[in-house]
Amino acid sequence: MMRRFVSLMIVITLVIGMMPITQRAIAAEKGLAKERPSYTIDAKYDDQQQMVTGHMSLKLPANHKGKLDELVFRLYPNAFRNWKWGAKSRPSAPGWLKVDHVRVNGARAETKTKETVLHVSLPKPLASGKTAEVTMDYQLKMPKGGTRLNVYGNTAFLAQWYPMLAVKDAAGWHDEPYTTTGDPFYTQMSDFNITFRVPQGYHLITSGRDIAEDAKGPITIKRDNVRDFAAVISKDYERVQGKSEQGVNVNLWYLKGMEDVSQELHDAAVSAMDFFGKYFGKYPYEEVDVVLGETGYGIAGMEYPGLVTSVAKIPTKKGESPAINVVAHELAHQWWYGVVGNDQVKEPWLDEGLTTFSEFLFMHDQMGENEREFLTKVAERSDEVYKAKGVTSVESLDKYSDPIYALMVYARPAAMMWALMDKLGRDKVMKILSTYYDHYQFRTATTHDFIQTANKVAGKDLTDFFNRWLYFKGAGAVAKD
Ligand SMILES: [Zn+2]
Repeated sequence: MMRRFVSLMIVITLVIGMMPITQRAIAAEKGLAKERPSYTIDAKYDDQQQMVTGHMSLKLPANHKGKLDELVFRLYPNAFRNWKWGAKSRPSAPGWLKVDHVRVNGARAETKTKETVLHVSLPKPLASGKTAEVTMDYQLKMPKGGTRLNVYGNTAFLAQWYPMLAVKDAAGWHDEPYTTTGDPFYTQMSDFNITFRVPQGYHLITSGRDIAEDAKGPITIKRDNVRDFAAVISKDYERVQGKSEQGVNVNLWYLKGMEDVSQELHDAAVSAMDFFGKYFGKYPYEEVDVVLGETGYGIAGMEYPGLVTSVAKIPTKKGESPAINVVAHELAHQWWYGVVGNDQVKEPWLDEGLTTFSEFLFMHDQMGENEREFLTKVAERSDEVYKAKGVTSVESLDKYSDPIYALMVYARPAAMMWALMDKLGRDKVMKILSTYYDHYQFRTATTHDFIQTANKVAGKDLTDFFNRWLYFKGAGAVAKD
């Protein structure tokens, strides 16, 4: 994700200026292709009520360890029901996600909803290695002006719009509260088979293959092996189409009034897909969509598998410019978050830091920007913030305020990767990233996995380097590293 009008540089330059110092595994996964949750959803959109009525069937994979007594789902749209994160970001009309008729293997199941968390008690405990089918009906009321989940004009932006199975790992079910800092979503690779019913005149832009023609009947879209499925239902978008050199269909969707930047942003998107594909590894799907527009308060751009959003323009020192860096940032997330996953609540730096570095590298190589001086300032400033606040770059979302989040989670790890290029050479750092991508694609990686990969590829122990940059151990010397 990128905050609105980040231009990360502008925000961080402000933070630096304003704050007084004192305050201031693919192989294994491929073999287990069926071991993913599989969602089948039938969703009807009512544009008058701005509601989605859905029926969902979820096939659980049999690879859970131990006996299961309950399932946990995330109902993120309930964050918009009684908004408690400040007046500025409050939606102008609330939204919510309500679930009914939950059954497990045909038997009625008891449920309990608390804000964004739905607990489903299993009628019969599920033994290790057993699968189950969970069915439910749901109603989604779209908020107006919600962050990410939003309705604007004749467009409904569906993000986290269905009951999402929470992740269960050694730490148990992940039911962390919603936050407005960062992307408080953590999901696993899943398969989707979604039938949309939309009013006449609407078309669909989704994480799967797009249906650009007006929908005349139900449309079924399948997409396997993604962490999430986003959809835009609209009457208004126009498209610039093209193909990257690596054969990915790249669509740029724009609204009236954005014609002046649509071609330039499409060119940048194609170029970014090829750039990241060349250095990090092949993008595994046949299509990616860049959707320009307003997707809610505070957001300049957001990533979903196969689909990203971006504002059309950003303010810069030279005035308003096409939002090339936002588009590049969100597309880099296809590699860091989309394909190589991480726990975005617990270790948000892992995707945001690598993505910001990828964005800077693209802007440096392809757009002729040079932010070395900026990154040096970031290193110095983040050392000061650490001394004043004790917050490092590897913290969970609830430990950060927004400006500190941008500095510690986006900018400092980007500066770290640049310093690593100085230390090891660019080719070696690209090799670290492509090895990490290859090894952890379609899986969930951790900070430890990243450091281990770097050590192995570099052929030396870089633990002290990463400890200094990420955890501020022996901080103070980073700017010279
Ligand atoms: Zn991001």
